[in-house]
Amino acid sequence: MEKIKLGISACLLGEKVRYDGGHKLDRFLTDTLGKYVEYIPVCPEVECGFGVPRKSMRLEGEPDSYRLIITETRQDMTKRMVNWAQKRMIQLEKEDIRGFIFKSDSPSCGIKKVKVYNEKSMPVKAGAGIFAGIFMEHFPLLPVKDEESLHDLGLRENFTDMKSCIKYDKFHLDSYLFTVLRIFALEE
Ligand code: SF4
Repeated sequence: MEKIKLGISACLLGEKVRYDGGHKLDRFLTDTLGKYVEYIPVCPEVECGFGVPRKSMRLEGEPDSYRLIITETRQDMTKRMVNWAQKRMIQLEKEDIRGFIFKSDSPSCGIKKVKVYNEKSMPVKAGAGIFAGIFMEHFPLLPVKDEESLHDLGLRENFTDMKSCIKYDKFHLDSYLFTVLRIFALEE
């Protein structure tokens, strides 16, 4: 059966790519939704060459203008991330993905309300992660979600109920795809 492709933050699949060598495995995404979609995992910070383990990073600046900074060393990693992300967009275009599930709250992957620290080190929940922001700009019509919004029970039920719609023919596949994409497109 043909599966739709979704990009996903790699740590949500259990890949040990976090700064501390850990992961953020989400069993709903792997065990339930994962049966019906093909994931294209991306870890911006690892693919960008920051390594595992690595120093933690955060967004610093103003809500409408911020940088990706290594908290401990004060190194500005924005340019490196942006340059890599722009090239990665071209690769993702070729993958024909239909959406992306991002890790929430990450300075690279968060899609909204990521903490941006001002000069007094006070956080304002205002930003999108650098990679996620570039992705949303590059693919403005693709639905994006983070794992937290998919934790909403209503959405989970909608996804799991779709099992009954899955058949090995194109009509049902298309209606399933349509439903998934519609769910993905729901505004909060
Ligand atoms: Fe990598 Fe994004 Fe997960 Fe951070 S949130 S570990 S950058 S995939």
